[in-house]
Parts: sequence; C-alpha cells; structure tokens
Amino acid sequence: MRTVSVPKTEGLPPDLERRARGAYLGLAVGDALGATVEFMTPNEIRLRHGVHDQLLGGGWLRLRRGQVTDDTEMSLALGDCILRQQGRVDPHGVALAFSDWMREKPVDIGHTVRRGIVHYRHTGEPRVPYDDQGAGNGAAMRCLPVALATLASPADVVRRGALDQARTTHHNALSDVATVVLVELVQAALRGASRDELCGAVDRFVTANPEFGFRARRPVQNPSGYIVDTLRAVFQAFATQSSFETALVDVVNRGGDADTTGAILGMLAGALYGVDSIPLRWLQRLDPGVAQRVSRQSVALLRSTPMVRDGGAASG
Ligand code: MN
Ligand code: MN
Repeated sequence: MRTVSVPKTEGLPPDLERRARGAYLGLAVGDALGATVEFMTPNEIRLRHGVHDQLLGGGWLRLRRGQVTDDTEMSLALGDCILRQQGRVDPHGVALAFSDWMREKPVDIGHTVRRGIVHYRHTGEPRVPYDDQGAGNGAAMRCLPVALATLASPADVVRRGALDQARTTHHNALSDVATVVLVELVQAALRGASRDELCGAVDRFVTANPEFGFRARRPVQNPSGYIVDTLRAVFQAFATQSSFETALVDVVNRGGDADTTGAILGMLAGALYGVDSIPLRWLQRLDPGVAQRVSRQSVALLRSTPMVRDGGAASG
C-alpha cells in the first residue's frame, strides 16, 4: 500500500482563514446534515424528505436540530489536545483526550473507536495493534485538526501526525492511506489548489491504491463505514459537483454512513470553496456552541503551525 503526496503549492494564500473556517464548519454542517439520514437507503430518504437538504435533527440518534455527532466531537477533542501541545500531535495526549471524550457519554461512538480507547485505558499504549479488519472510517473522519496544525510542516511531520492520531483506534493499511491522503488533500485546498488539481491528486491516489477506484463505477449508494466505501462516495460527489452545497446534498442523499460521508465531503469542499460558500440556512441552524468552537479552533490550529506563528507567509 503506497501513499501519494499531493504537491505543495508555494506559500500560503491570503484567504487561508476563510478556507480553514470553511473546512471546519463544512465538517460540522456535513455531520449534522448527514446524521438525520444515517443508515437510511436513498429510497427511504426520497420517500421521507424528497431531497434531504435541511438541518432537521432527528434520525436514529434523535438529534436536536443542528446537533453534531462523534465525527465533529472527536475532531474537537483532537484539536484541543493539539493546541494544548503547542501544535504537536502527541499520541498519549490524543489517546487521553479521546478517553476523556468517551467518559462524557457521547451521543454515538464507533465500535472500533470504543475498542481502541478501552485498549488505551487497559494498557496505557496509545496505539492499537495492527488489525486486518480495522478499515473503518473513524480515524479518517476526524483528521482535520492535523491538517490545520501541520499546514506548514514538512511532509514527514504531516504524515506522522495523521497516523499518530489515526492509530490510537485504527491501525490498518486502508485506514492509514485514506487518513493521510485526506490530510494532504485538505492542505492542498487550504493552499489554494483548484478543484481540477485536487481531482488530479485524487486520481493519482486511486492509481496507487486501486481499491478506492470510483470513476468507472455506478454511484455508490448506502456507503458503509468501511473507509473504501466511504471515500468512493465522497470522491464521486466531490468530482461530479461543483459547489459546496450540491456536493454535500449529493453525498448525504446516498444514505448509509451519511454523517461521516457528509463530514469528510464537508471538510474537503469547505477547504476548497471557503466558508462563504456554505449556505447560510445551514450555518444559522448549526448548534451555536459547536459553530463557535469549530470556528475558533480552525484559526487557533492554523496559528499553532510554526511558520504562521512566526509570522511567515500566511496572513489571517
Ligand atoms: Mn457520527
Ligand atoms: Mn457515521
């Protein structure tokens, strides 16, 4: 299994903050929108909602309108931990942060995540053993804080940060490559890469990791929590739609693990199109406490990256 590095663009664009806030608010909006239809089939969604494109709450978790789930909550826990460590991804700190989060009785939690946290509590080891069956999407869905905090870091630091956070609960080749490529794609978008450039990077990733092939396939419906299914659905929506709104509506109406496809699509499209591309009807209905936390954390994580902190090329 090989990863493919996304080429770096020179310097950091002046609209970096707009993209960073777009990525984090996009993640939260995607999570909240998708959670309403999580585990439904596209047909069930159609019968119930027509096209599902409003933040309604409900769903199998009986959420409040605008409430987010583990995808956003684990990202926030990870981001707070990185900020406490001055921009570094410390595996023990991350495992402890996830353990503390689980103690707060979250609204939902993945099986593999729970097992990883229990493993840490029993052994003190912040890395789970390699698991052939551990290719869930739970590590990839929460990778955004690493992308923000390591934006100006060398490629090996970026990769290590992505994997250190991932392997607290998921240690699997498919989860690993997916988590790394998502961090790289988000970083390329933050630096100002175009949709065509990002799609080119996705295609190079698929060439190196053909399991993730998505172009010559029918639309992926009911994507499961298997990271390959999840990313195929996300890549199809991202590559065929040309706005934040249409891409997010496309992916969540496929049903299945819709909060997680929504979260991942939302972070990627939000980084590309920027916060002003997210429809106001979604931003206004997002849980206000969550909206404030993700917005603040996106900027704080960017500033925790050494080049930005030292007054390098970035503004904002
Ligand atoms: Mn979730
Ligand atoms: Mn989910």
